[in-house]
Amino acid sequence: MGDRYASFANSGMGRGVVKRLGLPDPPRLRRFSPGTPLTDGPVLLGAADGGRLAGTVGKLLEAAGVEVSETAADGARYAALVFDATGITDSAQLRALYDFFHPVARSGRTSGRVVVLGTPPSSAATPREATAQRALEGLTRSIGKEFGRGITAQLVYVEPGGETAVESTLRFLLSGRSAYVSGQVIGIGAGTPAAPADWDRPLAGKTVLVTGAARGIGAAIARVFARDGAEVIALDIPAAGDALATVANDVRGRALQLDLTAADAPQRLAERLTGLDIIVHNAGITRDKTIARMDESRWDSVIDVNLSSQERINDLLLEQGLINSGGRIIGVSSMAGIAGNRGQTNYATSKAGVIGLVQSMAPVLADRNITINAVAPGFIETAMTAKMPLFLREAGRRMNSLSQGGLPVDVAETIAWFASPGSATITGNVVRVCGQSLLGA
Ligand code: NAD
Repeated sequence: MGDRYASFANSGMGRGVVKRLGLPDPPRLRRFSPGTPLTDGPVLLGAADGGRLAGTVGKLLEAAGVEVSETAADGARYAALVFDATGITDSAQLRALYDFFHPVARSGRTSGRVVVLGTPPSSAATPREATAQRALEGLTRSIGKEFGRGITAQLVYVEPGGETAVESTLRFLLSGRSAYVSGQVIGIGAGTPAAPADWDRPLAGKTVLVTGAARGIGAAIARVFARDGAEVIALDIPAAGDALATVANDVRGRALQLDLTAADAPQRLAERLTGLDIIVHNAGITRDKTIARMDESRWDSVIDVNLSSQERINDLLLEQGLINSGGRIIGVSSMAGIAGNRGQTNYATSKAGVIGLVQSMAPVLADRNITINAVAPGFIETAMTAKMPLFLREAGRRMNSLSQGGLPVDVAETIAWFASPGSATITGNVVRVCGQSLLGA
């Protein structure tokens, strides 16, 4: 299952061979561990004239113990380059981006970060401002492809009135928690979420249900949520009971054996719950065949596990008031749901449907103070991807800006960021955890 090529490329001998032959060079990514500083070096913070975020961002980063510079020093190596572009109201002012990034383009540390902050084009005051703000996406996505060495780049649109709400997202993006997230556009709504008492345990006191938790990504989600302080209810099918019990024991949580597609599953789930703060719909299956060769049971089972069962469960839990105010619903889509994939019409349909669920439910749930978001993983090193034919597996690993597959923990960290109390104004987002894969980009 391990990426032997990446291990070789990072070895003493491998580094030379990779360089000489011009082969893909997967960097070792910085990942989060509790107690480590938010960044592994100083942050360079710039702003276009009239930006409304740089002041707040500078203060909150300093309060988080980060060294912030506003002017680039000769020879300095930055852990992150953060640019407040909210002051840009006309395309001619996009020049401020060049002026900031050009001189420091080679000064990022390995696994460094680029974050550009903007105003959602839909909230811009004029068409010219909307045009210029939309243009920011081209810059960040290109930087993600250019900088290399594990440096990621994101665009964060912050609604006017959401200035302080940016903290949970900045903490996620600047830290090792977002190691495999790059080239994304994230939207933050207006409002002032309550900061968690302890940013290292932001989910303390929260109850989370994780489906498909016996193994793979679901097990990683259970572990990350427990690490972040949540009480975990781990759900999987009865046939996975032993593995499920192991995960539940590890996280000192509860195991719940249930087939989500059973007709009475929503009711049985509701009977066992007293109230949830977070539900993570992670359980999913593949039953691959081209549509010409696919029998109906492959189609039906994939749509039912990956999409319809989630809708039935959401509807009943919401109807019975079992998702608390301030709650979070988080789905797991897939790159296949964005790009489509040969042999996966059923799977891609279900995963595109997960995106539809996020988009259609976000406004409905806003009235109940519940957010809904999804992650869309790319190539993640799991039992599922280990079974792929060698050539496809190697292509999946390398065809992204980080030249490697992600780990289940990368998906889990992204889900935990959506779940954080500080992310209360983030809803309707689908964030890819794909190392900026070329597919569907
Ligand atoms: P996995 O097969 O290792 O784990 C899925 C879990 O869901 C299993 O434990 C399984 O028993 C459980 N499950 C399946 N049907 C169920 C049902 N009816 N009721 C209850 N539990 C059920 O898969 P994974 O690789 O960890 O993927 C987790 C999620 O991430 C899935 O939704 C998958 O589609 C998605 N995803 C994975 C990748 C990847 O590269 N591995 C990429 C994109 C998306």
